[in-house]
Amino acid sequence: MTRIFDEDLAGGMSTRAIHAGQRPDPLSGAIMTPIYQTSTYVQDGIGLNKGYEYARGKNPTRQALERNVATLEGGRHGFAFSSGMGCLDSIMKLFRAGDHIVCGENVYGGTFRLFDRILRHMGLSFSYVDTRDPQVVSDAMTPNTRALLVETPTNPLMWLTDIGAMSQIAKRHNALLVVDNTFASPVFQRPLEMGADIVWHSTTKYLNGHSDMIGGIAVVLEDDLADRLQFILNAAGAVPGPFDAWLALRGTKTLPLRMKQHDANGRAVAAYLLERLGPERVIYPGLPHHPQYELATRQMSGYGGMMTLELGSQDNANTFLQRVRVFSLAESLGGVESLTNHPYTMTHGSVPAEVKHAMGLTNGMVRLSCGIEDAEDLIGDLEGALVGL
Ligand SMILES: *Cc1c(COP(=O)(O)O)cnc(C)c1O
Repeated sequence: MTRIFDEDLAGGMSTRAIHAGQRPDPLSGAIMTPIYQTSTYVQDGIGLNKGYEYARGKNPTRQALERNVATLEGGRHGFAFSSGMGCLDSIMKLFRAGDHIVCGENVYGGTFRLFDRILRHMGLSFSYVDTRDPQVVSDAMTPNTRALLVETPTNPLMWLTDIGAMSQIAKRHNALLVVDNTFASPVFQRPLEMGADIVWHSTTKYLNGHSDMIGGIAVVLEDDLADRLQFILNAAGAVPGPFDAWLALRGTKTLPLRMKQHDANGRAVAAYLLERLGPERVIYPGLPHHPQYELATRQMSGYGGMMTLELGSQDNANTFLQRVRVFSLAESLGGVESLTNHPYTMTHGSVPAEVKHAMGLTNGMVRLSCGIEDAEDLIGDLEGALVGL
């Protein structure tokens, strides 16, 4: 299993992002971690190997990524997967038929789909609740509850959940707290430090940051939990190839730098939109009128580049989405390039309409992922796209 080295903990966030988990190649001194494109490893005799037997279980390129992200999250063990959903599916294999899970009601649409369309039929039961309110979460816990799953901030409504409060509830009920940290990234939010047991990501998004691979990663502190996850990783085998692990590792080197710019652009764009559209139509946790601005400021060290606009109708949303030139209409987020989408039909297309309506997700909403281009160009693009809307 991939344990971090003590020297990986040296330095601040940017130093660790660049160096943690990576050693110059012992053969050549290559400063970049090689892509170990191999399925197996030669053994010297029965039971004599260099710690690597078969690449489903361990691959040095993947391990460098796992150590790197584990360090950034303040954890001790990382587990890389072939996608964010593959990662979550493997985490869920910690549980068994009869177990009950409490889950945020505004989680990523794919998370809901995995639970509702697949895992529910395998004997797990789920309660979806508004995790903004700790009392509601507390009331949903039962003697069979084994895990509490939250995502904060959420997509696209930008709801926040108090991770420290969730940790207390989970501990009281002997349940694991599992946090999807994809939106904030470890640069702005470190759930393990607030009492989470497992933090996970779609590395497809900010960690890789260049929209050129699909991947997931889970990080934990505890050795026992790490042993169980390593067993599942190897037994179920949803692992990334070494090239994708290498791309994600290259991405994390600039994560702190990129997040600074995503955040600066997010704030600038949000300030412009507040002026242009008014507070009712802009959802961004870094605007003081956001109902959880205080929690955002306390729990995160930046607000990031994600926000949602209310344009009043699907026709208006469509007009906007067809007019943008710097922003591109696409699924996904967190890359250097700015993207926009229509959550109602895209990320949350698999969520039943009545569920969307109940939580206030409308067909007039568009989501922005502000990239790291020049803020003036993003604002200019929005200004053109919003004419008459
Ligand atoms: C994209 C995303 C996922 C799923 O990750 P994939 O890499 O697409 O499988 C999970 N959670 C959040 C918040 C996401 O944005």
